[in-house]
Amino acid sequence: VLRILDDPALFRQQAYVAGRWVASSNGKTISVRNPFDEAEIGYVPACTMEQVDEAIDVAKAAQILWARLPDRERSDRLRAWYDLIIQNQDDLARIMTLEQGKPLSEARAEILYAASFVRWYAEEARRLNGHVMRPDENRRVIVLKQPVGVTAAITPWNFPAAMITRKAAPALAAGCSMIVKPSELTPFSALALAVLAERASIPAGLFSVVTGPAREIGDVLLRSPSVRKLSFTGSTPVGKYLMAQSGETVKRLTLELGGNAPLIVFDDADLDVAVQGVLASKFRNAGQTCVCTNRAYIQNGVYEETCARIVKCLESASGGNGMDPSVTIGPLINEAAVAKVRLHVDDALSRGARIIGRELTVLGRVVLPIVLADVPPDALIASEETFGPVLPLFRFESEREALTFANATPFGLAGYVFTRNVSRAWRVSEALECGMVGMNTGAISLASAPFGGVKQSGLGREGGAAGMEEYIETKTLHLEM
Ligand code: ADP
Repeated sequence: VLRILDDPALFRQQAYVAGRWVASSNGKTISVRNPFDEAEIGYVPACTMEQVDEAIDVAKAAQILWARLPDRERSDRLRAWYDLIIQNQDDLARIMTLEQGKPLSEARAEILYAASFVRWYAEEARRLNGHVMRPDENRRVIVLKQPVGVTAAITPWNFPAAMITRKAAPALAAGCSMIVKPSELTPFSALALAVLAERASIPAGLFSVVTGPAREIGDVLLRSPSVRKLSFTGSTPVGKYLMAQSGETVKRLTLELGGNAPLIVFDDADLDVAVQGVLASKFRNAGQTCVCTNRAYIQNGVYEETCARIVKCLESASGGNGMDPSVTIGPLINEAAVAKVRLHVDDALSRGARIIGRELTVLGRVVLPIVLADVPPDALIASEETFGPVLPLFRFESEREALTFANATPFGLAGYVFTRNVSRAWRVSEALECGMVGMNTGAISLASAPFGGVKQSGLGREGGAAGMEEYIETKTLHLEM
């Protein structure tokens, strides 16, 4: 690893607890492997419960001092963190590709996206304003905005950097402290961000990265009354567990859970735009994003044409080691992910779907993009999130039918619609049961825009002003004069 980095100090095999770089207090470690070839990249400490407690205690003290700083000071330090992330983008991208597998170009794009949250919230740190009311002559009511306090984040492996900055930047901007428990599969990206936070003079203990056993660390964070808020991105079952456990200490929660995004192409769509949208929303990160299109509904009039164009565009897909600049599809994260792809493809074929274009091609953990046509509505892939590069195409006749199919899921994160009819665009956007709609676009991630889901896809929003509110408490001061 060290040989491929311009700044080897960004690669840390220690946790960053309470402002110090440490091994586990019991000496245990967790090995981290490259998903492409399973080669060991390194190890991280399996932090103990005492170390997590220490991180919480120090975060409490550090938060009080941080919240007292002038807004501009907090803003400037976040801005310094942003500048360092940008300066080190190549190394951060290399570390990410090594541990996560995505193509280097996508890793760099993620680093820029991750950095954009730090910049946006550095600016927002200076706009933490309350307001004053005058209910009658002798009374004023002052609404104060205060930081929530000590907060925690539990983050997944699919976006090892952006899922951290999307939480940490608004938390720090609002005057909170944060303890991050990154995925055990991708801890090095989190630790590299912590190196840069330290260099940016983010105070010791304000931002900790604890690595180690998920359940045990999660339980310490959950049980602590000092941790006032938890932000989680990950699977629905774990999110439900965290939500139930948070009840004990009445923590505030932001949950970004699984999706099952529908994409609808109407007969009146611009097909060039629609096909680009399908490809962008389906195959980024080899299909491993929570907003990936999981089901594509294509209206009968353009069905054959859309199928043909998608297959043509996918001919040039190149799978392999993400470090190779010509690769556009990296490996899936683990064997279970490959097994799920096989299951969904086999199930769909057994129910009458057919493969168009390339047959299912699996080389180690690399799965090349595959397209299934005429998938029946009862196929597993119509109700379960695949999290892999499989695109199932379903037919539909009417707008009403498309909406019924699209909304027939307990999830509601993203949805995509392609049409040139303005009335339909409004109607369908409003009727889709999801937190975000891409209208004639497959790209919906932006630091300044709220991101999040409805139904069982989650609670709360990240990004934009809404993402900052999640880290702010409101205090009401009644003043009689
Ligand atoms: P994914 O399918 O994206 O890996 P997970 O929900 O398993 O989704 O993982 C997301 C994050 O949640 C990871 O950081 C993981 O370590 C953590 N995690 C998994 N199980 C638990 C748990 N019981 N308590 C706390 N965190 C957990």
